[in-house]
Amino acid sequence: MSDGLAAIAARIRDARRITILTGAGVSAASGVPTFRGPGGLWRSYRPEELATPEAFRRDPRLVWEWYDWRRGLIARCEPNAAHHVLARWSAQGTTLITQNVDGLHERAGARDVVRFHGSLWRLRCAEECGQPEWEDASVPLEILPPPCPACGGLARPAVVWFGEPIDPDVLERCARAIDCDLFLSIGTSSVVYPAAGLVHAARRQGAFTVEINPEATEAAAAVDAALSMPAEVALPQLEALGVRA
Ligand code: ZN
Repeated sequence: MSDGLAAIAARIRDARRITILTGAGVSAASGVPTFRGPGGLWRSYRPEELATPEAFRRDPRLVWEWYDWRRGLIARCEPNAAHHVLARWSAQGTTLITQNVDGLHERAGARDVVRFHGSLWRLRCAEECGQPEWEDASVPLEILPPPCPACGGLARPAVVWFGEPIDPDVLERCARAIDCDLFLSIGTSSVVYPAAGLVHAARRQGAFTVEINPEATEAAAAVDAALSMPAEVALPQLEALGVRA
């Protein structure tokens, strides 16, 4: 067991308020594809060509076929050890913010997850008729593109697309969450926005900041401590050290 791990375990044990931000690295061990790079192509499209309001306006059925395919892939994935530890910590009062849209934190039982980029399993009315966002976990979806149950217009995935702002309610919850003793950034780089923005803001407000990431090289200057380990390895070890268990 590394010194770094023991020191971070002690920080977790002593902290009064902990906020955790997760990214794609947490879901990698569950087999969730990142949809970046050559392996992420669907038909011949890059995510940047489909996850935009313009693409949806141009061809909502095409965009929905892509989401339906992604939902099908992710439905076959299971939460891993990292999701399970974080779910237990969330039940003890840790605030969990995720950039992931895969829903695996929720499937592991995490509570009150702040979904920075929304969720693949939630839909909202593209016509903005006033119908509140709803959940639909059916795979495949019954009708493509799915309709809004209130107005019969087009529904869209309740995710944040390229060029769209983050939900103001989510930003408000994040603003409250960065007021913490300890901020852990897990499976996401602390040098890339938006993770970096939250980590830096928490650090400015006095939080001790930690990054847990297999490649933590560049983050050394951005955080107070870095663990170069995959989340599904680091988190069970931290939990085994007796912290918040
Ligand atoms: Zn509607």
